[in-house]
Amino acid sequence: MQIKQIIFDADDTLWENNIYYVQASSDFFDLIEESGFDRRKIQQDFDDLELRVVRERGYGSHNFVYILEELFRRYQKLSKSTLDRRRLREIVDRFKHHPSSPPRLFEGVVDTLQYLKPKYGLYVLTKGDFEEQRGKILLAGIDRYVNDFFIMPEKDDRTYCDLLQKHHWKAEETCMVGNSPKSDINPALRCGMYAIHIPYRDTWKLDNEAIQAIDGRFFELKQFTDLKKVL
Ligand SMILES: [Mg+2]
Repeated sequence: MQIKQIIFDADDTLWENNIYYVQASSDFFDLIEESGFDRRKIQQDFDDLELRVVRERGYGSHNFVYILEELFRRYQKLSKSTLDRRRLREIVDRFKHHPSSPPRLFEGVVDTLQYLKPKYGLYVLTKGDFEEQRGKILLAGIDRYVNDFFIMPEKDDRTYCDLLQKHHWKAEETCMVGNSPKSDINPALRCGMYAIHIPYRDTWKLDNEAIQAIDGRFFELKQFTDLKKVL
């Protein structure tokens, strides 16, 4: 392959992200379950609301907090006000302080980017709340190692095809690297790009789906530093 530019996903590819959401959700389910509610039902209500909120309001940690607060309000009503609001505050506060300043980069990320920089154009493509994602990129110092970064409300076929067109990049000279089959791998492959999947143990379920691997353009690596072996 004759790659000229590499585009990296950010959350759960360059740094830890979803574990903070998983931890806060789990603490939240504990809190509601302790008042006698069925955990599977809470989880189901959470999933339903999350799907709706993502569709209507997009991604971002403030939308996640909204889900917790809205569900708490519903269960508070059902429980006739036996739920402890202070505990909810604690969970939300702990979660809000996570966006770890700076984000916790995976091992070898900076080394690997420095290794790749002289050989390729490097870019970051992330979806979510603009200010939040921008803040994470700058706090992590990743802007120093890439040529540019792009923050989009969504990452679908359109996003990738438009990006290629806008920058006059050829699909067959462009490679996407990320943890999400749905947002990173499949749409990039469908646009004719190469794609390298680096699975993350806790990929958000709304970012997961089966990979529609295309022979010769799809690769899977164990960890970020393995990029040095193949690029
Ligand atoms: Mg990701």
